[in-house]
Formats: sequence, C-alpha cells, structure tokens
Amino acid sequence: MQRQSREWTRRGLLYGVGGGFLIGQQLVQAAAAQQPVPKQKAENAPFPPERRLGWAVVGLGKFALNQILPSFAECKRSKLVALVSGTPDKARQVASQYGVEPGNIYDYQNFDAIQSNPAIDVVYVIVPNALHPEFTVRAARAGKHVMCEKPMAPTPAECERMIAECRRANRKLMIAYRAQYDPFNRTAIEMVRKGELGKLKLIVADHGRILDPADPADRWRMDKKLAGGGSLVDIGIYSLNATRYLTGEEPVAVSAMVYSPVGDPRFQQVEETVSFLLRFPSGTQATCTSSYGCAEVKRYRVFGDKAFLDLDPATDYERHRLVVGDKQGEQEKQIPNQNQFALEIDHLSECIAEEREPHTPGAEGLRDVRIMQAIYEAAASGQTIRL
Ligand code: NAD
Repeated sequence: MQRQSREWTRRGLLYGVGGGFLIGQQLVQAAAAQQPVPKQKAENAPFPPERRLGWAVVGLGKFALNQILPSFAECKRSKLVALVSGTPDKARQVASQYGVEPGNIYDYQNFDAIQSNPAIDVVYVIVPNALHPEFTVRAARAGKHVMCEKPMAPTPAECERMIAECRRANRKLMIAYRAQYDPFNRTAIEMVRKGELGKLKLIVADHGRILDPADPADRWRMDKKLAGGGSLVDIGIYSLNATRYLTGEEPVAVSAMVYSPVGDPRFQQVEETVSFLLRFPSGTQATCTSSYGCAEVKRYRVFGDKAFLDLDPATDYERHRLVVGDKQGEQEKQIPNQNQFALEIDHLSECIAEEREPHTPGAEGLRDVRIMQAIYEAAASGQTIRL
C-alpha cells in the first residue's frame, strides 16, 4: 500500500496541474478548477477582538442556533456583534447568551438600519431559501459584505441579481458551502486532483434524511414558495457540489428521475427523491441521489483506475471518515477534525481584509442552481439535458 502510494504521488504530478487535469493530451479546465483551494490562514494565531470583523446573523433558526452561533467561539478573525430576528424575546435571550449588545438587535423590518452601524462588517443570511435574495440585496445596499446559506436562491435569475447587487455595492458575496472548508473534504479534493486514485472514472454521492413535519425547521421545506424545491435543493446539493469540487470540472450533460410517494402530505409541493447522472468533460461520470425518505446518509465514493476513496460521512457537522482502498486493502486517513463553520466564517473575514475573492463566491452558488434546474428539467422531460 505504501509503495503504491508513492507511485500515485509521482503519477499525481501528471494529473494535478494548478487545479486543471491533464487527461491524455487534453487540459480540461473548468471555472471551479481554476480556483486554488484556500489556504488555512485561520490556523494561525487568533486576532484580538478589535482586529476581528463584526458579523450579524439574520435568522435565529435551528441551524443558526445550533451550529453557527456557537462556532464564533472557535473563530480567529470574526466576532458575532449583531442579531436579526422576527422574535424579540428569542433575540434578547440569544443576545445575552452570546454577549451581543441589546442595541445591536434588529428585526426584519428595521434591518436596513444596519447601514449606520459600523460594528457590522458582514451579514450572514440563514433564513428559508426563498428569502436569501431579499436579505442579501438589503445587506449589500446597507454596505455590508454577505455570507448566504445554500441553496443560494430558488432561480438562476435571483442568483444573478444577488451577484449584481453585491458587485454594484462593491461588497463580497460568499455562499456557505461549508464542506469546501472542511479538512476531510479538502484532503479528498487534494488526493483526487493529485491523481492519487489514478485516473478519475466515477463518483457516487448520496444524501438522505427523513423530512419531519413535526420539526418547525422542516415545515417551510414542504412549501415550494419558501424552499424553492425539495430534497434536491436542500441536501442533494451536497452530492452535486461534491462532484464539482472533487473533479474541478463542470458537468456537460445531466439526466434524472424524480419520485414522490403519492398521497404523502409532505410531498404535495416538493419532491421526496431525486436520482441524477452527470457527465464531465474528462469523461468522469457521477451517479447522485438525494432523498427526504431515507434515514441519515451523507456520503460519497470516488473511483479512480488505481484506487477508491470513501468519505462517509462526508458532509456531517462533526463526524467524518475517510478511507482509501485498492486491491491490497483499505486504509483510514487520520485527519485532525476542525470546526468547518468557523473555518468558512474566517475565510470570508480573511478575504474581506485582504481584498480577495472568496473560494465559494456567488458564481459558485449560481452554478449549482443552474444545474439543479437542469436536473428538474431532465426528470420532467425524460431527456438528457446538455449544459
Ligand atoms: P429554520 O426554520 O430553523 O430557520 C429559519 C429561520 O428563518 C427561523 O428563525 C425563522 O423564524 C426565520 N424566518 C424568517 N422569515 C421566515 C418565513 N417567512 N418563514 C419561515 N421562517 C422564517 O431553518 P434552518 O434549518 O435553520 O435553515 C435556514 C437556512 O439555513 C436554509 O437556507 C437552509 O438551507 C440553511 N441550512 C444550511 C445548513 C448547512 O449545513 N449549511 C444546514 C441547515 C440549514
């Protein structure tokens, strides 16, 4: 296994060239491949509070309360300074828990007053999907940089408007693709791009969970106007995004099937299950699934002509397991776990301070939204859609 690893590394020099791939004589370069994986500057010493950028979080729902707010404690360049919520009691209680000044609590109506609050540099939008465009545009117009949750917006046109408004305001826009900042996924990307699996042939990526109508966070997910789609836009997006960041290519063809159980009240407006196939310019193919009907699955397997790589779970909040295998056997990679939310938050703060484009800008969110639209179109028409 060890000898072979060295051979893969040498071979890797042939494959992983500045984010592009040499396949035969052909250099396939895609927009995503051109971006270098961001350096983990956040591993450096934490900044003192006065040098950190100030963040406002919009929406105090399940994800914000359980993952994002606690992660500010592990940030090194970012600090939580403001909250935006439609529920004043909750906002006050959360503010006191995190040391946010009462004067820095806003609601959805007076949100635009953040314009005159110099403590706020960045706004993190964590509301239902269809509201991302509104709060992104309002934040940019108030002169603030924006981190927006995935999926970026229900339609490509809305994504384009978000990008245009942030550009007009000269503010940065980053989409919160946390997996692209997680060390396990970053290791997988590096191994694939260095050619350590040999020539990349296939990716299989699956995401599933049970949609629970008793959970308030899942209620708007059943409403197409607020969610923009079903399991695909919520969790299938992780399968899709993984195929793009692993290959560094953009798909050129997609086919798909959608299924929802007849009569299930959860799936009157949005779909339960989607299977989709993607073909990339290099010939790599991806088989992906997303379902609101399967118990916890969040994994991918990458097959090269020399070895395979398993990341399972791949997109969990805390747990990851990376295994590489070949004819000789399997080996688990030991990678120190880090808080992916803190890393992604600090990445945007770093990009703002250093006037760099974030690794996952608005254009990255737009690409996924366009492909997801093609996936729905392919399923509805029964045709393979060329992209
Ligand atoms: P949630 O329902 O728990 O939170 C949504 C928040 O928005 C709530 O505080 C709610 O009060 C507020 N809100 C404002 N206007 C609303 C309206 N008109 N209808 C309903 N709620 C409204 O949902 P969540 O699971 O926290 O998801 C919020 C966003 O975060 C979504 O875009 C979701 O895709 C994203 N998310 C991302 C991850 C990730 O791992 N990156 C995980 C979960 C959720």
